[in-house]
Amino acid sequence: TLSDRLTATFKNLRGKGRLSEADIDATAREIRIALLEADVALPVVKEFVSAIKERARGEEVSGALNPAQQVVKIVNDELIEILGGETRRLRYAKTGPTVIMLAGLQGAGKTTLAAKLALWLKEQGKTPMLVACDLQRPNAVQQLQVNGEKVGVPVYAPEPGNGVGDPVSVAKASIEEAKRKLHDVVIVDTAGRLGVDAEMMAQAAGIRDAVQPDEVLFVVDAMIGQDALVTAQAFLDGVGYDGVVLTKLDGDARGGAALSIRHVTGKPVMFASSGEKMTDFDVFHPDRMASRILDMGDVLTLIEQAEKAFDQEEALKAAQKLSDGDFTLDDFLGQMQQLKKLGSMQKILGMLPGMGQIREQLENFDDREIDRIEAIIRSMTPAERANPKVIDGSRRARIAKGSGRTVSDVNNLVDRFFEARKMMMQMARGGGMPGMPGMPG
Ligand code: GDP
Ligand code: MG
Repeated sequence: TLSDRLTATFKNLRGKGRLSEADIDATAREIRIALLEADVALPVVKEFVSAIKERARGEEVSGALNPAQQVVKIVNDELIEILGGETRRLRYAKTGPTVIMLAGLQGAGKTTLAAKLALWLKEQGKTPMLVACDLQRPNAVQQLQVNGEKVGVPVYAPEPGNGVGDPVSVAKASIEEAKRKLHDVVIVDTAGRLGVDAEMMAQAAGIRDAVQPDEVLFVVDAMIGQDALVTAQAFLDGVGYDGVVLTKLDGDARGGAALSIRHVTGKPVMFASSGEKMTDFDVFHPDRMASRILDMGDVLTLIEQAEKAFDQEEALKAAQKLSDGDFTLDDFLGQMQQLKKLGSMQKILGMLPGMGQIREQLENFDDREIDRIEAIIRSMTPAERANPKVIDGSRRARIAKGSGRTVSDVNNLVDRFFEARKMMMQMARGGGMPGMPGMPG
């Protein structure tokens, strides 16, 4: 993964004041590969990476992050920015029903999405109506009806027996129907083809003109990868749209299409569809998509939390004490409390690139453990905390009693402290991440 590769790239690059040109080039190469693997279109990758390099050149190396993390953070920030920053909300009509029209290739997931969107709107107190304007594919109307029934939303469709209707007239009539029945949102499902095709575009444009939508949403399958960009451009030219819906995000596509489409068309991704169930649907979250594209697990969350919670001063003091050889149980407790601030251990687990040994120890970690450790340390005298070597058998018994723990809990803690101190010394010598010692095993 990108995470592993970056960690390898930066193994020897700690403690620099500023990212060097070589560091930036090395990282840029890895980011480029990661983006291409995520199906971001090549021209977009090129432009994006050069913007990143530009920005990275000006950055100071932050105290809380190592250079790899820092570049990842820059890339992540830029990705979120390009993907639209804050989520863009639906625009509702000021008067009359809000009309939302869906456009996209056959199989993109429009009909499924129509019902999901209807359900989502209904849950927000709207009274949506679905309109079946795909009169091309056999069973398309019925498919929408089945979906509509699942979510309890009425479907407007041509009368059976009237033969195959004309989608433009159906669309037009549906708006009148919605007004009569006081539906406040109308969702118009349309036909697609397997490939971009002039007739399909003309029909979609005809429906658009008939219903004057407040929002046209381009629905695109995240699994089609690089082709998404071509399709997105064709629909932009042929029909035009205001926003994008990415579907099938439950598959293993990394979703680079979102970045390409946003970057090239300037249209925001507004919703994400992620499964066959009607509730597998959400507004689009640029930050989640950015992590998915980067494939960094929760690394990014850790970076954020580390920046917030990591007390640089404390760490420096601890490191100083360590090199002076007087790292005490009080310092140990302080470090543990820092860890607690970093958030739940379970989360941190998935976040640490290249921290294999610690990761293993983290596996059994539990926040309450810090409270137990605290109780034990608080039952020690200042002299014992400052110099744990003096904690002999009778002291252990006293401490156990005072803290309501067993002697073996106390033994464990003391062992752990010495181990942590050893590990911290090793990490300090090897230049590893400070502030992460003492994880119980
Ligand atoms: P349309 O041709 O654009 O109307 O696409 P459909 O809504 O008929 O969807 C095509 C196929 O994709 C159907 O089998 C859907 O069940 C499936 N589908 C739609 N959205 C999703 C999704 O988010 N995840 C998965 N796994 N399948 C989906
Ligand atoms: Mg359909």
